[in-house]
Amino acid sequence: MRVLVLSDLHSNGTALDAVLDAAKQRWDLSVCLGDVVGYGPDPNEVTARLRELGTKTIRGNHDKAVSGLMATEDFNPVAKVAVDWTRAQLKPEHMAWLSALPKGPLETDGIVLVHGALQDEDEYVFTPEQALDGLLDSNAIVTFFGHTHHQGGFSYRDSHLEVLQIRPRAAESFAALRVEQARRYLLNPGSIGQPRDGDSRAAFAIADLDHNVVEFWRVPYDIAAVQERMRAAHLPEPLVQRLVAGR
Ligand code: ZN
Repeated sequence: MRVLVLSDLHSNGTALDAVLDAAKQRWDLSVCLGDVVGYGPDPNEVTARLRELGTKTIRGNHDKAVSGLMATEDFNPVAKVAVDWTRAQLKPEHMAWLSALPKGPLETDGIVLVHGALQDEDEYVFTPEQALDGLLDSNAIVTFFGHTHHQGGFSYRDSHLEVLQIRPRAAESFAALRVEQARRYLLNPGSIGQPRDGDSRAAFAIADLDHNVVEFWRVPYDIAAVQERMRAAHLPEPLVQRLVAGR
């Protein structure tokens, strides 16, 4: 079974279309690690698409903020502007779907899904110490996380935690990771809608655990078209510009 792993879509419909084109239905089911909305110009389109696909989705901090389940005091000013704009745009049925999203960790089809960290859905996992916290208690060999918008992750064996450098190079569209049964993995598919790891291409993963492989993908999309819609919506300029930098 091939599982399409999506994360941090952030209302970017053009990037999501490019991802689904690249994945070409060579997957059996889809999951999402949260942050369906926030930052981008297409909250209704992206939410509708996930609902159509029947994607098993957990909530991210932006989904919580938009649906009023989390205060935005800790959000930076531009993120807060985008939250307020998104709230005003969302159709009631999509808002209801977002506000009912379950919290991670969620165990499904042999993998575990979290938005931030296993121990805290809102924590950013950047360091090996953070990655190790809770990893050995996870019920699956592979746990997927999002939130940082950095593709890659960590693997653990015999008291040693390794940082995985697994992102596809500029000329490549995917890189494959071989999964060893004796290890534990904490893997980030990267962000579809707002990558921050220096590569502006939309990021996702496909997990084929029957064959012990996780594929990390990057696909280009029409960034200028998204920027044009963001400017037309008067979304903050720093959010518009960071898409090109991938930071
Ligand atoms: Zn995010």
